[in-house]
Amino acid sequence: MLVLRLMLFTTLLAYSAIAKAQSLTYCIDPNWAPYEYIEAEQHKGISAYYLKRISELTNLQLTFLKTDSWQESLSAIENGHCDITPLLNYSESRAKTISFSKPYFYAPNVIFAHYQHQLVAGLSKVSDESIGVVKGYRLVDYLKGHYPEADLVQVNSELDGLTRVNNQKLDLFVSSFYAANYLIHQHNLTNMRIVGIAEVKDQLRFGVRHAHKDLIPRLNASIEKLSHEDHHKAFIMLEPVKVITQTNYSLAWEIAAIGSLLLVILASRHYYSLKQRKALARKNSALERLHRALEKKNKQLEELAVKDHLTQLHNRSYLSGKVAECINSKKRYKTECCLLLIDIDDFKQFNDSYGHQIGDDVLVTLARTLELCARETDFTARWGGEEFVIICPETNLHDALHLANRFREALATAEHACADPITCSIGIAELGYDDSQESWFTSADNALYRAKGSGKDKVSIASD
Ligand code: GH3
Ligand code: MG
Ligand code: MG
Repeated sequence: MLVLRLMLFTTLLAYSAIAKAQSLTYCIDPNWAPYEYIEAEQHKGISAYYLKRISELTNLQLTFLKTDSWQESLSAIENGHCDITPLLNYSESRAKTISFSKPYFYAPNVIFAHYQHQLVAGLSKVSDESIGVVKGYRLVDYLKGHYPEADLVQVNSELDGLTRVNNQKLDLFVSSFYAANYLIHQHNLTNMRIVGIAEVKDQLRFGVRHAHKDLIPRLNASIEKLSHEDHHKAFIMLEPVKVITQTNYSLAWEIAAIGSLLLVILASRHYYSLKQRKALARKNSALERLHRALEKKNKQLEELAVKDHLTQLHNRSYLSGKVAECINSKKRYKTECCLLLIDIDDFKQFNDSYGHQIGDDVLVTLARTLELCARETDFTARWGGEEFVIICPETNLHDALHLANRFREALATAEHACADPITCSIGIAELGYDDSQESWFTSADNALYRAKGSGKDKVSIASD
């Protein structure tokens, strides 16, 4: 029983030791941005990202061992100070001290040269030119093995190699595409370009010191568990972040150009709408002028329709309307109203003696005299030829007679173009309750006829 308990205790201890998170050290290439680099004493880059994910998945506790170069990191693995490195290629020489996980990140290698250099159809085509490669990189072994005649130049870091090409100190440099792309942007190395593709590709994986090679299955299992999203997040980290050291005026110019274009569009739109508004205003005022002219013409037409063009007195059609009003008023209010029918004496003879033109002047003189003698409430009109009419509302026969005589006297003294006096005969008729226009005028005409018959230049009142 005691033996069994001891066995169980020992098993539990062993199990808890396995289950307990293992604490190991790891080291990186400190000069291989964006894959891996050191910033503020911290491990950064996509290997830091993968390491974190793998640590979560494997329950490994890894302590970062800081080194100054990739060569130093490789030595640390060889002498047992560093257990793991997260991102390296397989090579036979490395396999002597390091066990490898399966690859989990793939990247191309490319050939860089000065921007005037011709394209290179592969490393096999290079003969007399120097080829740079980072010391300690798997590429050194590869190039030595495949191109023993090549003029190989081992540089300290990717940046060292790229800077030498940029400054034309080195003909070609073989490097990881992503790392070089990152550095070129970061350090503004603009004198160079990619001139070819190196046939050897990076297949990056975990390297574990042989002493811990039992970790490899766990690492492989974790690598299997990495999702597309995990890999995508790592890939995004390869994007170079450009440090802008100079003011970029191109954006300002673009904004200024777009702004100017907008201003031109707005200004031209404003100009055209202003032009249209002005044209509209001109048309409106022209329309208004036309409207006023039309109103004036209409008024003139209205006046012409009711006025005699020679004497400017109202005509017969206007007077007919007034006569109708007087008749209505008589019937409703029994108001008095008189009509004076005036006819120039011997006017035919006058025309014959002095001419028709002088006769017209006399007609105009008579019209003005008529207006002077009539009251404002009276209606005067040319009835036709040399006959005139005054309608006197609210007027009895007595007052009408007085008006007729006043008019005859005024006419006799009125100035006109000839020496002979102008006389007229007047017939007066008061509006009867049952009178029509016709009967009223007939009464006045009869009175006028009597005035003529009694020697002219007379006033006669119509008798009932
Ligand atoms: P009485 O005294 O009987 O009225 O004689 P009278 O000559 O005036 O009458 P009559 O009817 O015979 O002639 C009227 C004349 O009036 C005839 C015509 O020459 C003249 N007359 C009519 N209208 C006009 C006009 O517009 N201008 C001129 N100058 N004369 C006119
Ligand atoms: Mg007459
Ligand atoms: Mg007459």
